[in-house]
Amino acid sequence: MHGDERKWTDDAIRKNWVSTVGENINEIERMIAAKTGRQYTEALSSGTAALHLAVKLCGEKLYGQPKVGHGALEGRRVFCSDMTFDATVNPVAYEGGEAVFIDSEYDTWNMNPDALEKAFEIYPDVRLVVLAHLYGTPAKMSELQAICKKHDALMVEDAAESFGATYRGQQTGTFGDVSILSFNGNKIITGSSGGTLLTDSEVDAHKVRKWSTQSREDAPWYQHEELGYNYRMSNIIAGIVRGQLPYLEEHISQKKAIYERYRDELEDLPVKMNSFNPDDTPNYWLSCLIIDPNAMCRQVRSGNEALYISEPGKSCPTEILEALAAFNAEGRPIWKPMHMQPVYRMNPFITRDGNGRGRSNAYIQESAAPDVGADIFSRGLCLPSDNKMTDQEQENVIRIIRACFR
Ligand SMILES: *Cc1c(COP(=O)(O)O)cnc(C)c1O
Repeated sequence: MHGDERKWTDDAIRKNWVSTVGENINEIERMIAAKTGRQYTEALSSGTAALHLAVKLCGEKLYGQPKVGHGALEGRRVFCSDMTFDATVNPVAYEGGEAVFIDSEYDTWNMNPDALEKAFEIYPDVRLVVLAHLYGTPAKMSELQAICKKHDALMVEDAAESFGATYRGQQTGTFGDVSILSFNGNKIITGSSGGTLLTDSEVDAHKVRKWSTQSREDAPWYQHEELGYNYRMSNIIAGIVRGQLPYLEEHISQKKAIYERYRDELEDLPVKMNSFNPDDTPNYWLSCLIIDPNAMCRQVRSGNEALYISEPGKSCPTEILEALAAFNAEGRPIWKPMHMQPVYRMNPFITRDGNGRGRSNAYIQESAAPDVGADIFSRGLCLPSDNKMTDQEQENVIRIIRACFR
């Protein structure tokens, strides 16, 4: 928090705009459109709400308006990022569709274009792709966009974690037919909650505004021709976002310094940082490590527990996370891939070889993994990356990690 957040929330309270309309909302929509270069932005209650309306919008564009009580994607498959937070993909299920998970690649940990191409070979009728930029690192957009274009598919772009990151100089959040950002408490810009939907279509922007405010028709009474949602952002939340937005670039440079310090000071260990294409600029939202395969001690994970056997010169995510926790520092496992989640155990999963579900379908999963997502989940971890972290705190974290490999 920088102080301006309080100024704008106080302003809303003083002027009695304590509602889902007000100057803060208008102002952040303008600021986000200016930052990203996108024509229209709609401030919503969360990134998840934005994803829901983005997916619904694309579903209706492709398949028409469903009957009341039916989803826009009923009986339809949708290709989705596999290594992401579940909020990316849940809206496909909200709209009655079936997510088909696409494996990741090692360069950016995002959707693998070869696996996406394979998926279109297997399911040629699919017309929608939901893609996330993991941990603030842009996905391979030119390849992925070309594949979508070739197969006449729309793209929903989840830039919840990557606000401010650029792919070949272009802001993430500008690649999807519809894109979204999040202002959840853990994101690089926060409003405590909140999100936004981005589009270049005025018609789509109006539709989303209407849906997000209970689908009221222009009439003297509450008149409804279609289903509505209460998804509009609060003007109080928008005040916090408004205060934060001028600090986006400062937050990115703090995050970058944290990433580079980890990279430099862990260089001699058998680990690598989460990588990115040199033409791209991530926002460095989370610094992550992946342990070289030959430096992994044995580790097994069940649905809710992990065990490992400590070995000299080797380590594993579980050992490092426990060591950090013992010093009151919080790391996290890598987001567990969607194809390994019990809730999605019946959904198809496509690797680069077009290779169905593979061994990681099982609940119990060993260190040696058959697909990229399961492998990164097994060998990777998210490091403490808060931009308020002091040099001394980061030094302690680095010392603890080094000790794990002794
Ligand atoms: C946080 C996040 C979301 C959800 O955003 P909320 O504002 O928390 O609803 C969606 N996708 C990804 C990749 C996220 O990290």
